Amino acid sequence: MKRAVFPGSFDPVTLGHVDIIERALPFFDEIIVAIGVNEAKTYMWPLEARMAFISETFLGNSKIKVMSYTGLTAAFCKEQGANCILRGLRNTTDFTYEQTIAQANDLVNGVDSVFLMCSPQYSHVSSSIVRDIARNDGDYKMLVPKSVQ
Ligand code: ADP
Repeated sequence: MKRAVFPGSFDPVTLGHVDIIERALPFFDEIIVAIGVNEAKTYMWPLEARMAFISETFLGNSKIKVMSYTGLTAAFCKEQGANCILRGLRNTTDFTYEQTIAQANDLVNGVDSVFLMCSPQYSHVSSSIVRDIARNDGDYKMLVPKSVQ
């Protein structure tokens, strides 16, 4: 079974995330969308809401599971029998950040990473932009799936 973990904060899930998940689906039998819980971080949406947004978006798609985890992403992958981490790349800043983490995950835990380049229409979309707009009572509908709207 080809199982991948797509880790992130998903605070909240955006159309950029959805695009990466949908495009990765043909390559895997199962994708676990995994929300990493970091006690030191504060989030705009509670974990349950972030999980519900994703579950609702992919309702009826049995290839997608939504889970949360604490600790190392690579350790979670091993626990779940996933041999690969899925990530999206928007730009060179993402690349530089992801390169170090991917190399460390491979070296320390033997878990490989697979990257998909984001679709051009979503290169400006990020959860932090959505949070900024939300904090200032702006309209962020065009950046997120219906479940978040
Ligand atoms: P993190 O909290 O680790 O930054 P995010 O929830 O922001 O996680 O994102 C999870 C993954 O989704 C990362 O690989 C990130 O690069 C990717 N991603 C975020 N926004 C987009 C986008 N607009 N297009 C493609 N990939 C994206």
